[in-house]
Amino acid sequence: MRSKIIALIAHDNMKPAIIEFCDKNKDILKKFDLCGTGTTAKLISEKTGLNVKGYKSGPLGGDQQIGAGIAEGKIDIVIFFSDPLTAQPHDPDVKALLRIAQVYDIPIANNRATAEYLLHSDML
Ligand code: PGA
Repeated sequence: MRSKIIALIAHDNMKPAIIEFCDKNKDILKKFDLCGTGTTAKLISEKTGLNVKGYKSGPLGGDQQIGAGIAEGKIDIVIFFSDPLTAQPHDPDVKALLRIAQVYDIPIANNRATAEYLLHSDML
């Protein structure tokens, strides 16, 4: 059985938080294959040393690529630190990602508290 693939995404204001989260949970995260939207993946790789495969930047189609990965059965878990206080130009893509994760019953954590529960779950 292949190892589970976790997608990591953070809107700009949330990038410091996802980097801190990944650094704190590095020992757990390194057991998985990691991917993410372009800038998030690059920053997490640089700041934590984790190997995160980067798709396109979110506003340029990265969220859609991750959505497609879910539909193709290639992404098992999504950790998405979305910004609840700032309008995003790619809001339709974000909505589509949330919807497709729901359709395929993919665990998707939209804030740090949920992400912590998910990563410490016995079901992983
Ligand atoms: P980014 O995209 O990681 O390329 O910044 C995230 C997003 O805004 O969806």
